[in-house]
Amino acid sequence: MERIIGIDLGTTNSCVAIVEGGVPKVISNKGGYKTTPSVVAITESSRRLVGQMAKRQAITNARHTVFASKRLIGRKWSSPEVRHCLETSPYEIIQGPHEDVRIKLRDKEYSLPEISSIILQEMKLIAQEYLGEEPLKAVVTVPAYFNDAQRNATKDAGRIAGLDIVRIINEPTAAALAYGFGKDLDVTVAIYDLGGGTFDISILEIHDGVFDVLSTAGDTFLGGEDFDARIIEHLAYEFAREHRVDLRRDEMALQRLRDAAEKAKIELSNMTETEISLPFIFTRDSGEALHLQTTLTRAKFEELVIDLVQRTTKICQATLQESGLEIGDIDDVILVGGMTRMPRIQEAVREHFGKAPSKNVHPDEAVALGAAVQGAALSEGANDVVLLDVTPHSLGIMVHGGGFEVLIESNSTIPTSHSHIFTTVRDNQTSVKIVVFQGESSKAMENEMLGEFVLSGLRSAPAGVVEVEVTFEISADGIVSVQAKDLETGKEQSITVTATSGLTEEEIKNMIEENQDYLVELKKGEQVEARRATIRKTIREIEKLIGQAESGDAGSTDILDQLRTNATKAVEEARQSLEQIDMAKLVATEESLQRALQSFKAMAQRT
Ligand code: AMP
Repeated sequence: MERIIGIDLGTTNSCVAIVEGGVPKVISNKGGYKTTPSVVAITESSRRLVGQMAKRQAITNARHTVFASKRLIGRKWSSPEVRHCLETSPYEIIQGPHEDVRIKLRDKEYSLPEISSIILQEMKLIAQEYLGEEPLKAVVTVPAYFNDAQRNATKDAGRIAGLDIVRIINEPTAAALAYGFGKDLDVTVAIYDLGGGTFDISILEIHDGVFDVLSTAGDTFLGGEDFDARIIEHLAYEFAREHRVDLRRDEMALQRLRDAAEKAKIELSNMTETEISLPFIFTRDSGEALHLQTTLTRAKFEELVIDLVQRTTKICQATLQESGLEIGDIDDVILVGGMTRMPRIQEAVREHFGKAPSKNVHPDEAVALGAAVQGAALSEGANDVVLLDVTPHSLGIMVHGGGFEVLIESNSTIPTSHSHIFTTVRDNQTSVKIVVFQGESSKAMENEMLGEFVLSGLRSAPAGVVEVEVTFEISADGIVSVQAKDLETGKEQSITVTATSGLTEEEIKNMIEENQDYLVELKKGEQVEARRATIRKTIREIEKLIGQAESGDAGSTDILDQLRTNATKAVEEARQSLEQIDMAKLVATEESLQRALQSFKAMAQRT
């Protein structure tokens, strides 16, 4: 039975879990932490750093350190969210070849799926070290409100990382799986999930082992990052007022502000005020050093972010309405995501739902645990976890006049499909173009365009005669696919899909190859380093022996002198070849050093 791991690929932190002996469990990373920062950096020597290592060097390498990349994945270059990131990000965001977004790090342009693949690979490695074998399959979670492009981009990230994402599930749904696992529940729950970059709310019924999502909604651009940004703005504004300097224009100062803002926010969850101290944050041309020293109270922080908190409760209200339930029907409210540790959020949830939120799930681990539960169910083909999720957005097409005709309503249970008959509108029309969108606006262009589908090779006939049946499908992953059939002949129609963002198949293949080359080089580099370390150790051993022989009173014999000379020569040669990267040469060096060491040792013992 193949093991399927569960990965929570978060905006701020990621987490990996498995089911072992029937119990879901989070796997700690090498540092002993259960979550790993979703941060990727490229060093001056083109090495990739991930997680804590990348986060630690962010201040000194701000331009080449990527955090919160999940806010950009699957987005179009022209989207307001990308504009927003362009203004606030210390790393360089550039336009990709398909209306998509790329990040320039050192001399390479990375697509967002590539950045995510580096994080996924790290999570895979954490699991591999624990399991003792390479996991090849995973269930990966995404915000419930992710659209088709964002889900597809996440799948691409898996492929680049050499990980088959067998199922994508929604984060709040995963948290519900962790909550209900192994319990015989009959409840209706609301999952309020506020993480580093996104907000989701889902209403579920859990009964007889069935997890039935009634409705879901969210905002893929509302999370801890926005709370931090408010503190950054506040600090930068106060600083500018006092010193007439905009700290946000200085990469290093901005990164320090960012770290300090997040730290202050977290501290304010436990304290009513916190000190923010950033000495030498800026140096004027005159050489004068400026320091930032201030106090932030919880009350001030809450004032800065109250509209963000209210945005979440408004979405909660809309979701509840969609589900057809009343507040009183909710038996339990479950908080997920690091931001739900903020007291004001907990209060807002309590006020909104009229009850204290449950403390039954771990806010940082529940999502990965739920993914692992789903992974185990899929690998066993077991039926004990039945998940009925919904699609967060309506799916439809553009009709005459730019209107939006909905084919699959939001909150429909997935997988689902809908067929629609298209006819030609002109005589002898041989192709029909269908533009597919996701969203809730009645104007097509105000929704997210997924792609254009061209049905070609239609029979020449008067207008309205040729009928083509097009079936739109949404898979259990929430991913859209389209098939078309000529109704008269029953023939499947060819469809050309023009993706409006995302990667082409060829690009993905190149990225997979590049990634593999990088890993091979990395492995080689590690092996070379290991060899060098043993050579250095042997050199130290020989030098110690030579020193002992010289200071000892064993006297000197011709043979011992000769061996000492040989050993000294071997050491000199080894020192010179230490810079080699040719493995064969390093192995030869080590062997000759070993020979010199052994014969010298044997003789030294005899005399
Ligand atoms: P997640 O995406 O669930 O890992 O959540 C990460 C977000 O939660 C980040 O924005 C963190 O700064 C935030 N966070 C973590 N711990 C706390 C805390 N104790 N109080 C407030 N926010 C927190």
